[in-house]
Amino acid sequence: MAAKTDKAEFTRTIGYGENAIKFLKKNENPAYPRNYELWYTYSAGYNRELNKAINAALDRHGAIDNAMLDRFYDEFVSPINLSDRLGDVSNKMAEEISQLLGRIEESSGSVGDYGKQLTTAANSLSDADSPDKARAVVKRVLLATREMEERNNALEKQLQESRSQISDLKENLEAVRTETITDPLTGLANRRHFDQSLERLISSEIAEGSDLCLVMCDIDHFKRFNDVYGHQTGDQVLKLVGATLKQTVKGRDIAARYGGEEFGIILPQASFDSARVVAEQVRIAIMKKELVKRSTGETLGRITMSFGIAVMRKNDTPDSIIARADAALYKSKRDGRNRLTGEDELSEADFDKVA
Ligand code: GH3
Ligand code: MG
Ligand code: MG
Repeated sequence: MAAKTDKAEFTRTIGYGENAIKFLKKNENPAYPRNYELWYTYSAGYNRELNKAINAALDRHGAIDNAMLDRFYDEFVSPINLSDRLGDVSNKMAEEISQLLGRIEESSGSVGDYGKQLTTAANSLSDADSPDKARAVVKRVLLATREMEERNNALEKQLQESRSQISDLKENLEAVRTETITDPLTGLANRRHFDQSLERLISSEIAEGSDLCLVMCDIDHFKRFNDVYGHQTGDQVLKLVGATLKQTVKGRDIAARYGGEEFGIILPQASFDSARVVAEQVRIAIMKKELVKRSTGETLGRITMSFGIAVMRKNDTPDSIIARADAALYKSKRDGRNRLTGEDELSEADFDKVA
């Protein structure tokens, strides 16, 4: 019976797997586990929202490129896995709490019994007409008290255990939360967190009349780098950029992986000049790093990045400020890369080139 079920499971899933590979090939997506997972999920068809989004994108663009794939994964696949795990932690927490409540109820029951025993003892004492009877009552009270003490000790031990289990679960919950906002490769904030933070900060900074700057940056000629050295080495470079951004972007500023090899830095309460200083620090730090392939010691040269800086306006939305920072970034690219461009350097024509 088990063998038959296994065989059916094999036939069913291998079909999804083969389809996933076909989609990876057709769209020229790297066969990273997460890309495979996305296409597998699509082939299996159990995530309706994902399938709808992919079908719409296929109708519109004819293919799904890597940036779209990343976005779909973040939006439709990873929240599901995370919410499964979140549910798991919550269930464990609920179980622990209900056990704890059970124990407390039990013990308050035994406190009540103990009280009754004491009252009975007090009554019997006043009726006791001989030292022997009185002694017998005292003995019963001592016995009941010892039992009560033992129960209390057991309860205290159980309470301690529960406390440490609940604090472990709290840590798990914290880890899941961190994961929901982190890009796994670079350790920076992920796209979802970037979008949410930008939206939240724009409205709070507009309300307070403060400044906010947005820097968009992108690795120069990264496709060439991947083609020459391979995607795994490319991934190491993305990690390096992530680490550099983490070192340079501090405090309330948020550095995020916006997509593929493009990053965003949100700088609340920052003037254009201070945003420029941060971007310049990142540019120099990246350019200075000599890349060495860890496995072989081979020198891979250096990489550079281009930057675009936009300053928030009163009626900005996330899309409008991103569009200006992006337009500035593309001007940096056109002007020769490895440089910063502020939106003040843009002309009308620069916007047309992006659109
Ligand atoms: P430009 O200077 O104009 O930005 O040129 P480019 O080659 O960097 O830009 P393009 O957009 O043509 O290519 C981006 C490349 O980034 C394509 C893809 O191979 C690579 N890339 C995107 N995401 C990842 C990733 O997660 N890992 C690796 N290794 N490469 C990635
Ligand atoms: Mg690039
Ligand atoms: Mg790019």
